[in-house]
Amino acid sequence: MKTQIIVLHRYAYGDSSWIVKALSPDVGILSLLVKGAKSKKSQFKAGIDPLAHSEIEIRYNRHKNPSLIIPKEAALQNYFPKMRSNLQSLASAQLMAEILLKLGKEKSHATEEFKWLLNNLKFLELNAVKENSLSIWLHELCNILGYAPALSKCGRCGQELLQPADLWPALGGAVCETCLGTRKSGYDPIFLQELGNFANGKNHEKQISWPRIENYFLGHLKTHTGALENLRSWEWLTETRRLP
Ligand SMILES: [Zn+2]
Repeated sequence: MKTQIIVLHRYAYGDSSWIVKALSPDVGILSLLVKGAKSKKSQFKAGIDPLAHSEIEIRYNRHKNPSLIIPKEAALQNYFPKMRSNLQSLASAQLMAEILLKLGKEKSHATEEFKWLLNNLKFLELNAVKENSLSIWLHELCNILGYAPALSKCGRCGQELLQPADLWPALGGAVCETCLGTRKSGYDPIFLQELGNFANGKNHEKQISWPRIENYFLGHLKTHTGALENLRSWEWLTETRRLP
């Protein structure tokens, strides 16, 4: 069968081969053994570079599901050269790839995950990374996986909210002023207001709390998946943002 892939990660195997981890909309995460790929004569070339979008031909049997697949060829579809030349865009794309890789083999969301990652790579190719792009990506990923936090409604009484009065993990998201009562909110009011704006689709890019909104969604994903500790690309992205 032919399938599209986006390469998430790869590492050397022996002197001349790569093990390539890639996301396919049809199969989920694939482990590919690409023999002789480091040779100049290899027909795979850039098609198996990290973050490349390619079409590969594989022999795949959904009932057997081998752990390592040997692809026949890889035809490069998109290399995203502009995205690669912008350090922050590249770091942002690497973080997305690392998160999807860590979320693992589960196939059921692969089609949506693939589509959403490809959209973002195309966006980063055409535009520089925007302050809000990672928050949007993380929020959508929560949606795809089926555990987006409820932010525009109180998780206790169901009242519509312009902004949460507090965030209660046990409720799966926001709580209203009335339900909060005399308790103190654990969050900065500016953050809650901006998170409320974000949840209600009022996406002001000049918001100051984007890093905190990213952190909130990332924390939410961590809690629900238990699989996102030690994200190396997160530190790398933070470093690129500090560059002048
Ligand atoms: Zn309430």
